[in-house]
Amino acid sequence: MIQLNNLEEHPSHPYRWVNRFFPPRLDWIQVEISSLCDASCIYCPHTALRSVWRQGLMSRKTFFTLSNIFQYTRHVHLQGWGEPFLHPHFFDFVQATRDTGCIVGTTTSGQAVTVDMAERLVDEGPDVVAFSVAGCSELSDRYRRGTSFTKTLRAMETIANLKEKSRRTTPKIHVAYMLLMSALDEVERIIPLFGNMGVQEVIISTLNFVIDPKLREESFLYCDAAKQRKAVEILQESAVPSGAATDIVISVNFPPFHQSERCLENAARSIFISHDGYVHPCVYLGIPLVGPTNGSTPSVLNFGNIETSSFPGLWRHKNYRRWRRSLRKGKPPMTCTRCGRFISPTQNRPALFSF
Ligand code: SF4
Repeated sequence: MIQLNNLEEHPSHPYRWVNRFFPPRLDWIQVEISSLCDASCIYCPHTALRSVWRQGLMSRKTFFTLSNIFQYTRHVHLQGWGEPFLHPHFFDFVQATRDTGCIVGTTTSGQAVTVDMAERLVDEGPDVVAFSVAGCSELSDRYRRGTSFTKTLRAMETIANLKEKSRRTTPKIHVAYMLLMSALDEVERIIPLFGNMGVQEVIISTLNFVIDPKLREESFLYCDAAKQRKAVEILQESAVPSGAATDIVISVNFPPFHQSERCLENAARSIFISHDGYVHPCVYLGIPLVGPTNGSTPSVLNFGNIETSSFPGLWRHKNYRRWRRSLRKGKPPMTCTRCGRFISPTQNRPALFSF
């Protein structure tokens, strides 16, 4: 069988010339260096689908193969459906990514951050570390089982102090805040709590992907209209600093606060790479499951593996181009119709879905 990558390597293949003058351009690349996680957040597919989870750490070989494609972007985010700090080569991967000239970010629960590790984070990068929480108090631990909010805060404080001491500006400290409707009141404490902790940005998300129907009411997108109105009020008030001098930026990354054409994950100009090298359009279509999916498991879509095919060839393959075109035109591929990140062009809001 002739492989696409073999064809592309051939000197007469038109892709060679197309790629030289018109290389792929991506806004970011997200890399799942670990699908292992030691937490059991109640809303995470890793918890609900544990029995069919494809557990793994990205090998050095896979990482260094894929780092060749960082030339097509400026931003690399080292995080997928697992905890990146569980990877023993985390700092090697950060260094290798920085060597390509890209800005490197990661998202963590912060549970593994010791003082030694915090020192390395300040000395060696990455440029941005986002800490995941689901509230502004120990209430977060009820949703993020197996994590300690106190430990997360301590990790942020340690890094902020070390940065100040060494007069470093990086890593920037972000908070990846999961808004659950039963913890809506916690939003009011975001600025008082994080405003003086060296946090530069808080990104508030909601449950886009409701893996357990029992959690539908926890999502801003799928809860009832009265709750949604109340949430909009609280978010509007809380996103405006109330007198306190703070430079903290609050971003709410779901509609009506965040509007964008079609896919809010920008899947037509970004990719997600699983720990074993598969290229997916987004993180929601790259849940690492063992075996084929069925009606009761989420859809998975990949366009090939970075270890066996060249990336420009995968990116320009007619199936992938066709898929991106239909996404851009607002005629969602079947795989997107149930996604909370897809804005329906007729309704101007995400299409509802349930499992
Ligand atoms: S709309 Fe499609 S591409 Fe975009 S995030 Fe959802 S599943 Fe992914």
